[in-house]
Amino acid sequence: MNRILIAEDNPHIVDFLQAGLKAHGFTTLVVEDGYRAAELARGDDFDLLILDLGLPGQDGLKVLQAVRGQGECLPIIVLTARDGVDDTVTALEGGANDYMTKPFRFEELLARIKVQLRDRRPAYASPSETRLEVGHLSLDLLTRQAWVEGRLVELSAKEFVLAEVLLRHPMQVMSKEQLLNRVWGYDYDPGSNIIEVYIRHLRRKLGNDAIETVRGMGYRLRS
Ligand code: CA
Repeated sequence: MNRILIAEDNPHIVDFLQAGLKAHGFTTLVVEDGYRAAELARGDDFDLLILDLGLPGQDGLKVLQAVRGQGECLPIIVLTARDGVDDTVTALEGGANDYMTKPFRFEELLARIKVQLRDRRPAYASPSETRLEVGHLSLDLLTRQAWVEGRLVELSAKEFVLAEVLLRHPMQVMSKEQLLNRVWGYDYDPGSNIIEVYIRHLRRKLGNDAIETVRGMGYRLRS
């Protein structure tokens, strides 16, 4: 179970965050005050901090300073206002791991939370963690090699990441947006057909039946 500290004073955003995080199995604690946030973030009780920059007491940038100043490496995702470009830069320079500009979609925040939590895993991984296998498909996450029925297939870097996302969620429908978020991050045009193009590539390499199109919803890996 991952524990997330939410430092946010807007009750609507708090409700939105708590409902979404709870639904995905996280436990949360909400603090509205910057001093309290900094105090709790320095302890050992949380795996990640979602930090609003505009907080009463001590603002988010000061919280960041206080937490990082103590050498605390807790992952921190800051929430910034749409016009707060300078704040975003300051926050990233001040040690924030990532940021979300309000308003944002929960799915996107969730994807970024998962990236942060995944990156915290120890650099050494047990053999079972470095290999993903579903049906006839197999990926080695260390060597970035892919096999279909024991036969090595060449995947480009992006094809590999897309395949990895699908293999991590076998039989689950992944929406185009989820795939864009996870594979291309925020560096994509939501109107582009890049997902369709890459799914076509993957089908050619992994087998036509490997990935199912779920009309109007997205794609699903067949196991
Ligand atoms: Ca605020």
